[in-house]
Amino acid sequence: MCPAPDESNGTNGTNGVANGANGNHEGYRAFQTNQASRPNSNNPYAPVGDFLSNVSKFQIIESTLREGEQFANAFFDTETKIKIAKALDAFGVDYIELTSPAASEQSRLDCEAICNLGLKSKILTHVRCNMNDAKLAVATGVDGVDVVIGTSSHLMEHSHGKDITYIKNTAIEVIEYVKSQGKEIRFSSEDSFRSDLVDLLTIYSAVDKVGVHRVGIADTVGCATPRQVYDLVRTLRGVVSCDIETHFHNDTGCAIANAYCALEAGATHIDTSVIGIGERNGITPLGGLMARMIVADRDYVKSKYNLEKLKELEDIVAEAVEINIPFNNYITGFCAFTHKAGIHAKAILNNPSTYEIINPTDFGMSRYVHFASRLTGWNAIKSRAEQLGLEMTDEQIKAVTLKIKAMADVRPLAIDDADSIIRTYHHNLSAKQEKPLLELSAEEKKKFVKAEQELNAESEKKDLERKADEQADVPAAKKQKTEAVA
Ligand SMILES: [Zn+2]
Repeated sequence: MCPAPDESNGTNGTNGVANGANGNHEGYRAFQTNQASRPNSNNPYAPVGDFLSNVSKFQIIESTLREGEQFANAFFDTETKIKIAKALDAFGVDYIELTSPAASEQSRLDCEAICNLGLKSKILTHVRCNMNDAKLAVATGVDGVDVVIGTSSHLMEHSHGKDITYIKNTAIEVIEYVKSQGKEIRFSSEDSFRSDLVDLLTIYSAVDKVGVHRVGIADTVGCATPRQVYDLVRTLRGVVSCDIETHFHNDTGCAIANAYCALEAGATHIDTSVIGIGERNGITPLGGLMARMIVADRDYVKSKYNLEKLKELEDIVAEAVEINIPFNNYITGFCAFTHKAGIHAKAILNNPSTYEIINPTDFGMSRYVHFASRLTGWNAIKSRAEQLGLEMTDEQIKAVTLKIKAMADVRPLAIDDADSIIRTYHHNLSAKQEKPLLELSAEEKKKFVKAEQELNAESEKKDLERKADEQADVPAAKKQKTEAVA
């Protein structure tokens, strides 16, 4: 069920005048989901079905430096890996997973270098389930080793050619060795959702008995649905007593929903990568998971992770792999907290929780109320330019605001049009050859020039009025509200 808007009168937070900057989050209560990780001892009637849920108690295994390295555009050198590892640590992820040291000599050296950084996050490396790889991994100084082997009939037949008995015996040997070296050990199958359930449970039960720390479920091909995830994790929860890690590919857009369902069913760890980068179209994105989880349990998420570092972390990774943050990215996409004019904008001005379930200030972001019309004000445009990462003086902002207003008189402006005008105006400031703000017909150009002249005259008149207004005795609250709406 979707959370209902909080009816308390939240503070006004338009255009970057973010509410809650002082730690007051009126209007943004954590929404209760009836999912305590354990039944409340004061309430013996707590729903039995929620006993398994770890929605309020989960850990992140961040795999940008392993799964993310398999992204088509990723070629991380040592310096970049260290930069990303430090940013992940600053964000507060529980674990950082690295590419196998068996992949190349450089991978092994990078693994050692990151282990030597002394980060708070625990360092893991991800290797094949054999003794050679396990020994190489342990020698790098990692805190834990994640071993993986394909258990689906497809992989047993076409990839490694080993049977379940062989897999089980090798797994036990590797687990016992890694444990004897004082390291954490996880055993995961690959392509778990296309593996035979009896095979899976047999092998997980066997590794649980020899004391593996975690077993992993991996939707390697991204075929699983939330319901299938819930069923499998819940079944597994009844068979093993160790932790359960889950790994979801996003081929069919279910990666975040699957992660959430896994936690509801008793999984303890979720694999993520920054912006979701990974093999093909990637895995559960860290930011998207944060968006999902903060709505479920804001206190837990805020107590564990430095959410305001998310944008910086995503920017580092986006730059390293030469991609743009998608427009619809969770939390940090350029329109994630943008409200367009109309009923939404008006309600948002009164109380942001009417149309937002996530408080942008929790992530150091600001909301934007979009007025791509003659009603727009330079504060709104300034906030927008900042969101777009464009630096301009107030005078330049005022000038481009006037152009947007004039353009809105010529023809209806979509949000993209306003952004395009801002970007082009900014570009023209330093360009030798000016680009047109928008493609206009001769007729539209004429109208635009006329509208601009009218607005210039109006703006001068307003300046005079403002000066008079400043001298008058206006109550502070009213003044503030007027500025916010402008
Ligand atoms: Zn994967």
